[in-house]
Formats: sequence, C-alpha cells, structure tokens
Amino acid sequence: MSSEKTKIVIGIDDTDSREGMCTTYLCALLRDELSSFAKIISDPILVRLNPTIPYKTRGNASVALFIECGDKEKVIRHVTEKIASMACLDNENTNPGVVFVDEGQFDAVKSELSSFFRRAVKDVIMIDEAKELASELDLEFHAFKNGRGLIGALSACGAMLDPEWDHTYEYLAYREKEVWDTRRKVDESSLFEADRQTYPDTWDTVDLANNMVVCVPHSGDPVLYGIRGKDASSVEKAASFVVSEPVERVCVYRTNQGTDMHLISVSSISEIEEMHSYILEGEVLSEPITIRGGHTIFPLKDAAGDVIDCAAFEPTKNFREIIRKLIPGDKVVVYGSVTENTVNVEKIKITGLAKAYDIRNPPCPSCGKRMKSAGSGQGYRCKKCGTSSVIPERTAIERDILPGFYEVPPCARRHLAKQLLRFENEDLPVFPGR
Ligand code: ATP
Repeated sequence: MSSEKTKIVIGIDDTDSREGMCTTYLCALLRDELSSFAKIISDPILVRLNPTIPYKTRGNASVALFIECGDKEKVIRHVTEKIASMACLDNENTNPGVVFVDEGQFDAVKSELSSFFRRAVKDVIMIDEAKELASELDLEFHAFKNGRGLIGALSACGAMLDPEWDHTYEYLAYREKEVWDTRRKVDESSLFEADRQTYPDTWDTVDLANNMVVCVPHSGDPVLYGIRGKDASSVEKAASFVVSEPVERVCVYRTNQGTDMHLISVSSISEIEEMHSYILEGEVLSEPITIRGGHTIFPLKDAAGDVIDCAAFEPTKNFREIIRKLIPGDKVVVYGSVTENTVNVEKIKITGLAKAYDIRNPPCPSCGKRMKSAGSGQGYRCKKCGTSSVIPERTAIERDILPGFYEVPPCARRHLAKQLLRFENEDLPVFPGR
C-alpha cells in the first residue's frame, strides 16, 4: 500500500429500481463513509442525461464524487462492495456501473469524457461504446450485469472533470431507512414559506398556480425532498425553513438541472430524430385541439413545409391554456423532446402573432339585415331582398396573448428544462410559470 495521496473521480449509475433505492442516496452515503478515510474535494455531481432514455428509473440521473485518498484500493473496494450490497440487482433493469479516474489520468481523459457526457445528455449511446471507451482510456471500472450504468458513470466522471457547463444546485434530504416505504411527513406550509423566503434564488419547490408541493417525491425511494436553486447557500437557506420527519442525511449537488443542456437547435423538421430534444422554429398550421385525456396538440410547419405535432400534455396543466390561444399563422419556437413523432413542449417562444378575425355572416347591402347561410360552401343570401354574397364579414379582434416566452408550470417541469427565471437578456418578455 502506498501512503502517497491521490485524487480520484468516482462516477456511479444505475443502482436503483422503481421499488426502492436511489443512486443519489448511494452517493450521499458513500461521501459520508469515505470521508472517514478520504478527503471530499468538491460538491458531488448529479447530472441528468437524455430524458427520453427508456431504461431510466425516473429522472435519468448519474452521480460523481471527487476525493483525495491515501489508499486507492481501499476506496475502490469500499465503493464496489457498497454498490454490490445496496443496488437493486434483482431488478432486470438495474445494471450498475462504476468508474474510477485517477489524478494521473485526468489530463489524458478529460476531453473524451467531457464530450461523452455532453453526448449522453443529448444522444442515445450503446453499452458497448461505453465499455470500449472505458477500456481504451484504461480506466478502472466495474460493470454489474449488462453494465448499462457505465454510460452514466462515465458521463458523471466527464461532468466532474469539465468545469465548463452551466449548472445549478440541488439540496437533497434523505429519509431514515425504517420509513422508506411509508408516507413522507413534510409540513406543506413550511415548503411554501421556504419558497417565499428564497424565490427566485430557489425554484420549483412549490407550484403556486396549481397550489401544489413539487419538491417532495411520491415513490418508495429514500429522498424526502429536494430544493433546487442557483447556489449552495440559497438551497441550504430554503431547506432551513422546512419542517419534516427526521432527516437521515443531506447532500448538496452541483447539477445540470435547469440548464436546457439536452436541447439541440435545428433549422428543419427533417433533422429531427426520435429520442432527442430540440429547439425548433415554425408556424402554427391549424388550431390546437384538445384530445381525450386533456392533451392539447397543434401541428407545427417549418420553412420547408414539413409538419410535426407539438403537444402540451395534461400534466402541464395551465400551460395548455397558452397553447390553446395559438392560431394558424402564429410564429413560434418550441422547446422539447421528441418521442412518437411528437414534440413534448416544455417551453414555447411566441415570436409573431397572426391577425385574428371574428367571422360573421355579412350584412345585406340593400336592407342591412344579416344574411343567412345559403348552404355549405354556397355563400350567403338575404331572405328579404334575395341578394347574395360569398364574402363573410371579418372584423379584426385583439389577441389575448403577447409575444414572449412561456413555460410549463413547476409541477410539470422536466429536470433539464431551463426555468424562464434563469433566462437573461432575451429579445422578448419572459413569463415564468410559478
Ligand atoms: P434515478 O434518477 O432514480 O437515479 P434513473 O432514472 O437515473 O434513476 P437509471 O436507473 O440510472 O435511471 O437508468 C438509466 C440508464 O440509462 C443507466 O444505465 C444509464 O447509464 C443509461 N443511460 C443514460 N443516458 C443514456 C444515453 N444517453 N444513452 C443510453 N443509455 C443511457
């Protein structure tokens, strides 16, 4: 055993299942355990990867720790054994991966791992590619079962080694193990107070428009609540207002949540692929319709004349009212992920409003009375004078929406979606969902 100290980045992913556990919890636990024989160098990292990946348990998260230690082998053994004992290995969708990057390798692997991370947020990556990259870079790694978690583990290492990405913070409070499968006890009014005291430095704790708490999950995992915000001190301040059941441990993460890192700007629909997320400009082709289930959908046409459906799904609640105000000819930019050939709209920028008209039967040029319809496609006829016309009366009406940016409310926020309150120096007004 060498007594020389070395720095190590540890990336971990895919340890949980819907029935329990959470990779972030394992990260927090390891940080606390490792701190008895290693130094924790910086805030742990929690990155969200491609939100459309079907294998994800919930939010496609992966984590990384940055430590300094004297006994690297002991760290590797401890981390690997912990994963083996705590991961939900019986679940067929749980395929953990862990990667250890030694200080001596940082310079050589930094740029490859950083671009791998950026691709994993936007793109779909195969397990074999992750395994090959880990081997090529000569990284120490452990792949459990099919090892899909290596994709996230390598990405988290890349994120830790690359300081050049927009970031926010999340404070996660974890529950005591005995109560994991019971109802969470968090005083709702304390969360509204935490929001009042710290918004806009923190966000998405509660949803005022829909009178809902957003930061407390409902699944059987160890997370009690999570407070998101612009820096560590703001999320810690917000957490200090929260009244809840006992907290087992807390961890503040640096994260790519709320950064729009998943979005790819495209200039045409022909460039769009399934399971990717886009910023796409176009024109509303026809009136939005609301289908069974309450989902509001409109077709968007790009400059080449190609068309794609854009949806504000039912969970986006009051955002659908904005979408329902769109009319054919409106110029918009949509932000969202594409699955089943439909854009799941997270945000919309309305750049140009078409003229709206109230269309009525025309008045008779002789007697002034309103003409009646002469039948479908046959114009209008005055019953009294017998005069006819094919032109309806069109009166311009004011639109009840303004150009600008609109977003889904906090209760429907996707992890990676950048909140409008984080938008700066835009050419159009922003209307943050709150
Ligand atoms: P939680 O958020 O509760 O930790 P999760 O939603 O992060 O769970 P995982 O259990 O980590 O879900 O499963 C996601 C799996 O998808 C991981 O194995 C991860 O490596 C893999 N993955 C992540 N991003 C990509 C990608 N871009 N392409 C292919 N696979 C990916």
